[in-house]
Amino acid sequence: MKNIVCLGGGYGNMRFIQRMLPKLPSDYKITLVDKNPYHGLKTEYYALAAGTKSEKKVRMGFPEDTQVDIIYDTVTEIDIDNGRVITENNALEYDKLVVGLGCEDKHHGVPGAKAHTCSIQTLRESRATFEAIGDLTPNDTVGIVGAGLSGIEIASELREARNDLYIKLFDRGERILPMYPVRLSDYVKRWFDENNVDVIPNSNIVKVESDHVYNNNESHALDICIWTAGVQPAEVVRRMPVEFGPGGRVVLNQYHQVPGYQNVYVVGDCAALQHAPSAQVAEGQAEQIAEVMSDIVAGRELPGEMPDIKMQGILGSLGSKEGFAYLKERTVTGRIARMLKSGVLWMYKLGNN
Ligand SMILES: Cc1cc2nc3c(=O)[nH]c(=O)nc-3n(C[C@H](O)[C@H](O)[C@H](O)COP(=O)(O)OP(=O)(O)OC[C@H]3O[C@@H](n4cnc5c(N)ncnc54)[C@H](O)[C@@H]3O)c2cc1C
Repeated sequence: MKNIVCLGGGYGNMRFIQRMLPKLPSDYKITLVDKNPYHGLKTEYYALAAGTKSEKKVRMGFPEDTQVDIIYDTVTEIDIDNGRVITENNALEYDKLVVGLGCEDKHHGVPGAKAHTCSIQTLRESRATFEAIGDLTPNDTVGIVGAGLSGIEIASELREARNDLYIKLFDRGERILPMYPVRLSDYVKRWFDENNVDVIPNSNIVKVESDHVYNNNESHALDICIWTAGVQPAEVVRRMPVEFGPGGRVVLNQYHQVPGYQNVYVVGDCAALQHAPSAQVAEGQAEQIAEVMSDIVAGRELPGEMPDIKMQGILGSLGSKEGFAYLKERTVTGRIARMLKSGVLWMYKLGNN
C-alpha cells in the first residue's frame, strides 16, 4: 500500500483530502497527522478568544474514510532527505508528503512581545487568551497589536462581548486595511469610533512589558496585549533543509513541490505563494495539489503551466451584526457582509461534514 502522508489537518490538507479521495487508487492510502483530534476553524478563533463562541463551534471532526488513517501526534522533524517524518511518539515513512502545518506568531524581534502577549493563532492559545480576558475587571485596558483582518475581528468581537473594557487597536498604517478602497477603511474606522475602540494609526510597537507597550517610544498602560501583527510558518517547517522565500515560507515549483523533491508538497501558510497567506489561498492551492498528484498517480502528463490560484476577496466581521467585504472589486458593508461571512462558514461546515 502506498502512503500519502498529510502533516496538519488545517484548511489546506482538509481540502486536499476532500479533492484527492475520489481520485485515489485502491492501492493508496492517506495518513493524516495532527496534534489535535479535530480540524480547527482558525478563521473563527477570534470569537473563541472573545468568549462569544464555545470551542465546539470552532472545530470539527476529520474525514472518516476507509482510505484515511488518522494519527494524533506532534510532528517534530521533517526529514525529506530520508523520506520520513518524526513525531513525538513515532516515525513515519511516506511515498508522497503534503506539509500543511500552518503558522505561528511572528514577533519581529520586538523585546518582550513573545513573553507578554496573548495569541489567537492556535486553539490552545485562543483558549488561554479567553481565560486572560475573562480575568479582566471593569475599566481594564486591552491592547491589540496589528489591525489586519484578525486584529479587527478580535477588537470588534471583544467590544461586543465586553463593553466595560477599554480597547486600543494599534494599526501600523495610516488607515485601516490600506490595500482596500478608502470606503471600506472608512466604514471599519467609523464602526470603531462609534463603538469606543481607540484606533491608533502609524503605530510601531518597539517594546512590550507585562503591563505596558511602547508605541514609537510613547508608553501605554495595558492589562493584556493581544498580538496579531504577523505570522511565520510553523517552527518545524522553518527547520526543513529547503529554500525559504518572503516571510520565511517554503519556495516551491509551479506544481507546489519542493524543488528537488518531487514527492514533497507544501500547502497553505507554510508555502511561498503570490498571495498573502489565508484559508482561501490554502484551499485554492490544495485543489491544485490534488490535481497534480492525481495526474502523477495516474501516469498522466502534467500541464505545461499551472493556472493562477483564484481569489474571491476578503470577508470580515465587526461583531455579530456588521461586517465588511471586498468581493470582485466591490465593497460591501453592514449586515449583508456579516451574513455573507456567516454563510461562508455554514457552507464550509456543511461541505466538510
Ligand atoms: C483570527 C483569524 C482570522 C482569520 N480569518 C481569515 C478569513 O476570514 N479568511 C481567510 O481566508 N483566512 C483567514 N485567516 C487565516 C487562515 O486561518 C489561515 O491562513 C489558514 O488557517 C491556513 O491554513 P493551513 O492549512 O496552512 O494551516 P492551519 O489551518 O493553521 O492548520 C494547521 C494544522 O497543523 C496542525 N499542526 C501544527 N503544528 C503541528 C505539529 N508540529 N504537529 C502536528 N500537527 C500540527 C494544527 O493543529 C492545524 O490543524 C484567519 C486567521 C486568524 C488567526
